[in-house]
Amino acid sequence: MNLDASPAIPCDTLVTASGILTQNARREVIRDGAVAISGGRIAAVGSRAELATAYAPAETLAMGQALVLPGLVNAHAHAAMTLFRGLADDLPIADWLHNHIWPVERLLTPEAVHLGALAACAEMLACGTTCFADLYFFADQTARAADTLGMRAVVGEGVLDFPTPSAKTPAEALDISRALFDHLRSHPRLSAMVVAHSPYAASDATLAACAALAREQDAVFTLHAAEGVTENADSLKKTGKRVIPHLHSLGILGKNCLLAHCVHVDDTDLDLLAATGTNVAHCPRSNAKLASGTAPIPAMLQRGLAVALGTDGAASNNALNLFAEMGFASLGHKLASGDPTSFPARAALDAATLGGAACLGLPDIGAIVPGHHADLAVLSLTRPSMVPFFDAPSQLVYAASGAEVVLTMVAGRVVYRDGRFPNLDAAALFREVRDMAASLAAKRP
Ligand SMILES: [Zn+2]
Repeated sequence: MNLDASPAIPCDTLVTASGILTQNARREVIRDGAVAISGGRIAAVGSRAELATAYAPAETLAMGQALVLPGLVNAHAHAAMTLFRGLADDLPIADWLHNHIWPVERLLTPEAVHLGALAACAEMLACGTTCFADLYFFADQTARAADTLGMRAVVGEGVLDFPTPSAKTPAEALDISRALFDHLRSHPRLSAMVVAHSPYAASDATLAACAALAREQDAVFTLHAAEGVTENADSLKKTGKRVIPHLHSLGILGKNCLLAHCVHVDDTDLDLLAATGTNVAHCPRSNAKLASGTAPIPAMLQRGLAVALGTDGAASNNALNLFAEMGFASLGHKLASGDPTSFPARAALDAATLGGAACLGLPDIGAIVPGHHADLAVLSLTRPSMVPFFDAPSQLVYAASGAEVVLTMVAGRVVYRDGRFPNLDAAALFREVRDMAASLAAKRP
């Protein structure tokens, strides 16, 4: 017995595994490593031998041949749109939105949004996503679903110039947004942001009111921008400016602004985004499915913009799986540019972790470093596609499907393990979701 040894430090949980992908500043992967967790945060990360001696955990999760990585961050989602998965596919964006999605969305109720969002949270947790940013109607119901499943989320109520299922006017939607900030202010995992649908669905006055609310609340303001191929021409006709300069003239661009898509941006637009520190949520699979185009993400990264990955909604993707998004992002940019170095696996992994954290203004997620929230995903390395395992970014981006995730943890709590969710009867939920989706589809005009 070594009487000089310091007493072990108590902690809640020690997670051990054959690899820890830290996403720290040196992008270290610790072989045969461990993560000590206390009070929902990471207390230490290091070698298993070292941490097993230094810490006395209440519980040990010995994951064996597995990789622990930071929980993935989905920076652009419409969770409840799981209800519309497969309802309208393979259509041009304007036809899809005006003739299919908006008509069925008018039928949404708080109960429907809650069910759809629960299904989305389950889907995201099962493939290692621990945090999502959501833009939708009845946003309090999305927050409620995320809370039930123990996820981290930033939610916002969509503000549009025409009536939505939850608000008759933009002023009413802004009131709902304001109430959401009050409701979530002291929540440990949930927070609010301001959402305007887009410059084509919100007037300048509405956009300015949204930006003012975001400034007042010191919150993220997010909207769709330069997604469709006609948006710049339409904006020039209406305002005399392209989409990005128009948003700049309204004082919207900046560090708290998160623009989804930014597919149709030229060099001047990119310079404006960079000069203002505006953030971008890249949704490559949604852009591909709607044939919106390829966002110039490599050029954004060269200019130092923060770029995150988003799935968009399940009606335009149709999966909420960031592994699929990382793989497609990397392959898509190579294909579009003819340059295999244009968006390497490392860049895709960074966007899905650190990029998401930066774009959402959540500095304590996206990496496994002491002090951060204990938001983790664990992938089994015993699956055929994970053998052998030389390079983590390459393996995660080009070989993993997300089905290798065996455990997901948020704020130190296990919220998904081996197909089960501790707070959810998934089979019962999926029955209700099928019924709700069928009833909405049957009622659509
Ligand atoms: Zn979207």
